[in-house]
Amino acid sequence: MKGLQAAVAALEEAGEIGISSHVNPDGDGVGSLLALALVLHGQGRKVYACMPEPWKFPPQYSFLPGRELFVDPDELPEGLELFVALDCSNAERLGPLQPIARSASGLLNIDHHEDNQQYGEINLVDEHASSTCELVSRVIRAAGWTIEPEVATCLYTGLVTDTGRFEHRNTSSYTFALASELAAAGADTFQVIREVYDNQSLPYTRLLGRALQRIEVVDGLGLAYSYITQKDLGETGAVLPETEDLIDHLRSVRGTRVVALFKELADGKVRVSLRSRDAYEVGPVARGMGGGGHAMAAGYTSELDVEGSISSLIRELRDRDGRTAAPG
Ligand code: AMP
Ligand code: MN
Ligand code: MN
Repeated sequence: MKGLQAAVAALEEAGEIGISSHVNPDGDGVGSLLALALVLHGQGRKVYACMPEPWKFPPQYSFLPGRELFVDPDELPEGLELFVALDCSNAERLGPLQPIARSASGLLNIDHHEDNQQYGEINLVDEHASSTCELVSRVIRAAGWTIEPEVATCLYTGLVTDTGRFEHRNTSSYTFALASELAAAGADTFQVIREVYDNQSLPYTRLLGRALQRIEVVDGLGLAYSYITQKDLGETGAVLPETEDLIDHLRSVRGTRVVALFKELADGKVRVSLRSRDAYEVGPVARGMGGGGHAMAAGYTSELDVEGSISSLIRELRDRDGRTAAPG
């Protein structure tokens, strides 16, 4: 695979390595970051694992090992031998860490987004991979390193979350084979499911109820949407990082093809998550709105308020339908 040998060589040569994933980290971002950090630490490297600010470690991933390898962004030295960006389709996804990543002698980009900008000196990018964790497992195998149980648990987390528990279309026979391999390597598969999915806080469960209650379907557009505001967070006591999978509870409404969740951020902007439940591709929609993502899962940030963001998405989807329904 293109980039694999170069990636392994870069990781074997560098003594000091910075590693990060994208802003608003998800299970794949956190899992791949911790897995690679643990493996390299085990190989005797000085590892600086870091996440771009502002961030709060998503509580559902706090059970994962390797947190002790994290440093604060201001402790991340400039001019490292190597910086690894995980699960980031472009360097902007590194947020405020981008200048430090750029200041490293080498930037290694490991990712599976189809719109990856190939921004590294070395790019290990495969859009057919289910997850960045799958790519990290290939790197570890190619380097001949052992996947210890703790590392297997981190990798399994990314595999499970990015495939929606092996439900999404990015799940292949290879994904199941890798899951089996990670289980054999000692991944605590039961713990991953329990901590990530079966361990919701009461405030989050109540917030989920609000989001379900106010779901709307736009007829003729196949759009189901809902929203959560800062007021909802304040009143329920839920925090945004635990709402990452909330959208999955909205995407099973019959007759719809796109589901959108609008989340009001503390600064008044709105994070919009899109999921497809059909062949309809949401990646291009998100890119059209200044964001990005995969065919089935994508997102962007809107400068409008919640109401304005909803209207603007509806307009965009209508325009797109108008454009694709070309005269025959
Ligand atoms: P989310 O709905 O935030 O979970 O994001 C779904 C997918 O879209 C993920 O694969 C993200 O990497 C991608 N994505 C979300 N927001 C953005 C953005 N602003 N720019 C590029 N990709 C994004
Ligand atoms: Mn991700
Ligand atoms: Mn991913």
